[in-house]
Amino acid sequence: MVRTPPSALSPLLLMPDPLSINTQHLKASETVAISAECKRRRAAGAEVFDCSVGEPDFDTPTPISDAGIAAIRKGLTRYPANNGIVELRTAMAKHLSALSGGRPMHPDNFIISNGSKQSLYNACFTLFGPTDRVLIPSPAWVSYPQIVHLVRAEPVMVPGDPEWGLKVSVKDLEAHYTTRTKGLLLCSPCNPTGAVYTAPELKAILEWSVKRNVWVIADEIYRRINYGGGPAPSVLDFPDELLERTVLIYGASKAYAMTGWRIGAAYAPAHVVKAMAAFQSQTTTGANHPAQWAAVTAFTDDKVEAEVVKMVAAFRRRRDYVVGRFRDEAPGIEFNEPHGAFYFFFRVDGIRAASPITGTQFCADLLEHAGVALVPGAAFGDDRYVRMSYATSDNELAGALDRILAHVTALEAQT
Ligand code: PMP
Repeated sequence: MVRTPPSALSPLLLMPDPLSINTQHLKASETVAISAECKRRRAAGAEVFDCSVGEPDFDTPTPISDAGIAAIRKGLTRYPANNGIVELRTAMAKHLSALSGGRPMHPDNFIISNGSKQSLYNACFTLFGPTDRVLIPSPAWVSYPQIVHLVRAEPVMVPGDPEWGLKVSVKDLEAHYTTRTKGLLLCSPCNPTGAVYTAPELKAILEWSVKRNVWVIADEIYRRINYGGGPAPSVLDFPDELLERTVLIYGASKAYAMTGWRIGAAYAPAHVVKAMAAFQSQTTTGANHPAQWAAVTAFTDDKVEAEVVKMVAAFRRRRDYVVGRFRDEAPGIEFNEPHGAFYFFFRVDGIRAASPITGTQFCADLLEHAGVALVPGAAFGDDRYVRMSYATSDNELAGALDRILAHVTALEAQT
């Protein structure tokens, strides 16, 4: 059992009336906190460019909203089936099967939850526990280590290779493997780096997981937001023999501009779905019922599909714009080439060589003096970097970039 030194304990445990040991590693999400700070500043009348938040600026496509409203009017407002309405599980099975060359997918292997964050938590709770170690390629989305801590397992960060888009290889995974390693949380396209694992890279990782009996939780929430043409390579592109220990995480939030509807899903072997359903039946009794009907339309309606294609094209245009301006106006800045999702991950430690700046300091100064909110790399495990979300309107993005690049130039002048 790994003991936490007292200094590392969460403030929640050091209060006069301490909370449970369950909170020992608990921290509120940094990205959610930064976004709340932006809203507070805006409400106080300040001009703030918010490039911190990981949600599309687009409204939910109208056919989806109409379907949600219709479901409410029809009285589909009672408890849903705990594992998700069969119409949504069927729609998702067909949709994902079509994205992966028609592979057979059974609706019963899906369980719908309130956002893919809940799907991830359900999967980790049912698969991992005390004494288990879970590998997390790093930099990683803020919630992965927290979720692993919450199920009392131990997160083990595996640094990605900067020469390889900050991705990990089988060699890296093997170097961190011990007999206690029970899982791997793999995110592609990746938040925060924008990296996308290629099909051969995914295949090698799946083969390694089969050999090592390690569960792969494949978070493909950004799969549609891929700039290499078509959806990103997926674990679903491989035969069942490689997926016996894989849980796919998917959802409606990102590609369908449905973050507030809270619809996510896991696709897993039958015994895992059964355990996740039992767990969910004791926690949330399934996902928001009318939102599930809205999501049926998201995954089946041709007009919605056309909207998704347009939104992905807009993200690609913005990606090109951000990368182009950084290349032209701040050629000294290193960044991770973004191939998917809607994040630009750049290094700040080299900007002022004489006294290197951290991501935390860079973001604090930028918000204070230029009114632009970004997320320090510390939130993702590497404070040499900063994450910028370009899921903002074109105007906001242009204004934010003017200010970020001016800030970088001013810092460079200090060297
Ligand atoms: N996985 C990743 C990598 C994410 O970035 C997010 C949202 N920021 C989620 C999962 C959760 O998304 P949701 O709960 O809205 O489906």
